[in-house]
Amino acid sequence: VITRKFFIGGNHKLHGNKESLTTLIKSLNNATFPSEDIVELVISPPIIYLETAQSLIGPRIQVAAQNCYSESKGAFTGEISAEMVKDLGCQWVILGHSERRRVFGESSAVIAKKIEHAMQVGLSVIFCIGELLVDREANKTESILAEQLSDIVKSVPDWRRLVIAYEPVWAIGTGVVATPKQTQDAHQFIRKWLATNVSEQVAKETRIIYGGSVNATNCVDLSKETDVDGFLLGFAALVADDFTTIVSYAK
Ligand code: PEP
Repeated sequence: VITRKFFIGGNHKLHGNKESLTTLIKSLNNATFPSEDIVELVISPPIIYLETAQSLIGPRIQVAAQNCYSESKGAFTGEISAEMVKDLGCQWVILGHSERRRVFGESSAVIAKKIEHAMQVGLSVIFCIGELLVDREANKTESILAEQLSDIVKSVPDWRRLVIAYEPVWAIGTGVVATPKQTQDAHQFIRKWLATNVSEQVAKETRIIYGGSVNATNCVDLSKETDVDGFLLGFAALVADDFTTIVSYAK
């Protein structure tokens, strides 16, 4: 019996304003979703709007920060802590997103520290991994995924609060979605890696979601794959109808 509840997260990245976020949330609050036994829903607006989101959202949807720092407090101008995210009532944080890794130069060591701290504070984590196009073309997808997992494996105090998002970098924001087979192969590899390097139980229970140009059409076949436990949406998360349609394919 598979006990993994389908998970759909929406990463708004650096998009929107108070007005558009309010409109989006009102639409989501009015939408009809499958029951909460079937699918868990999270949206992640820019951090400055977390409180707005938290105050507007209905009981069906949770809120994630797009990032947070590895320290509780101190001389870290511009940063926010996991404690602050928690203080607003948010339960989730996205860590290791390829844009954080590549645009902002976050190393695996930094990401591992952030995961450990966020989880110790009580947040749940959407942890993103994925290969570059050159890696895939050089047949290095699996070794890259293994490396990204190894880098954080000792920093996870509670695997039940970690969702792994497989996001091939070449598919993020490009309109080029991974095929269902490419996705299933990567997810199966990640699950086997967990079985070998963490435990059978963690491998069986950890949600592995796919992200990278998912839309209301290509989600249909992707969601049928055995090891696809949900999606991390970028662009599609900004459009209430697309988000709602994608959620309707939760299995
Ligand atoms: C993302 O930001 O994690 C993402 C998957 O974006 P998009 O769906 O726009 O490719």
